Amino acid sequence: MTTLKRTARPDDFLLSVVAPVYNEEGNIRKFIERVVAAMDKAKIRFELILVNDGSKDDSVLIILQMAKEDRRIKLINFSRNFGHQMAISAGWDYANGDAVVILDSDLQDPPELIPDLVTKWQEGYDIVNAVRKTRQDTFFKKMTATLFYKLLNRILTSKIPENVGDFRLMDARPVAVMRKLKERDRYIRGLTNWIGFKQAFVEFDRDKRSAGVTNYTMGKMINLALNGVFSFSDFPRKLAHYAWILSLLLAVGIVVYAVVLHLTGINVPGWTSQVFIVVFFSSVQLFLTSIVLEYVSRVYWQLQNRPLYIVSETINLDPEVEEG
Ligand code: UDP
Ligand code: MG
Repeated sequence: MTTLKRTARPDDFLLSVVAPVYNEEGNIRKFIERVVAAMDKAKIRFELILVNDGSKDDSVLIILQMAKEDRRIKLINFSRNFGHQMAISAGWDYANGDAVVILDSDLQDPPELIPDLVTKWQEGYDIVNAVRKTRQDTFFKKMTATLFYKLLNRILTSKIPENVGDFRLMDARPVAVMRKLKERDRYIRGLTNWIGFKQAFVEFDRDKRSAGVTNYTMGKMINLALNGVFSFSDFPRKLAHYAWILSLLLAVGIVVYAVVLHLTGINVPGWTSQVFIVVFFSSVQLFLTSIVLEYVSRVYWQLQNRPLYIVSETINLDPEVEEG
């Protein structure tokens, strides 16, 4: 158990730098060199954990070569491609540091920013998010990202800060919380926000990918977006309730209209009863569907099995009982 005091962090600490790697043979050597240089320059004691997410190129060979010469360079080799979010999760599981930094290995996230994140952490912040001030991505990527976050933030209960990706430093305590979150459809930037703690933001300019092409295909991006929507918002469930309430109001209107026509005797025989039948049964169906959805969504939240609450510190209490 680490210290519970919100005072400045020690000068002597171990930093874990974690980077997911998928087909980065064109970048990985330069990436490792830049991380090592930035850490050595700032005199930070560190380990660099590379999580190879089933690369099909020579990324691993290069990492192995460099790990032989420098024991601070470590490798977690996935048996196949499990995805970026799983690679980050594995990094947290294996990290030994007092703080853990996550960044991409394609040099879009500059390793030279890490000492700035560390400084904020030493000031007492538990989670230090790197915020993209500018980004050198395609017009399409920028547009879809902006649109998605605007929409997402309208329907989420806990808002996700804009222009924040997965480049961040976390203290060992929030990392311990992240290790306990076992939900499968994980949307990490949502989770790191959801767990709370004292958060800080540091701006940076996001570079172009150094070599190779993006591994985030359209399909993976849509999947990530859906994870964001379904695991952090109640919107789909609410939609079903709005639908039956709206249909009920409409039904009342239609029934009144049908009765008026019936009384004035303008309509054909049997039409009024047909209107009643259609309107009644479709409303009942929508209502029952929304009840089913209510159960499904409750089961889903329960299955996510998130802790009921997260304690960041306790005073005069046995540290054994501090976890929710
Ligand atoms: N990545 C990964 N598994 C994947 C896809 C990507 O580990 O299935 C890594 C990749 O090596 C990079 C980071 O995740 O370090 C971000 O991926 P990418 O640069 O392709 O995404 P973009 O920056 O275009 O969103
Ligand atoms: Mg990238």
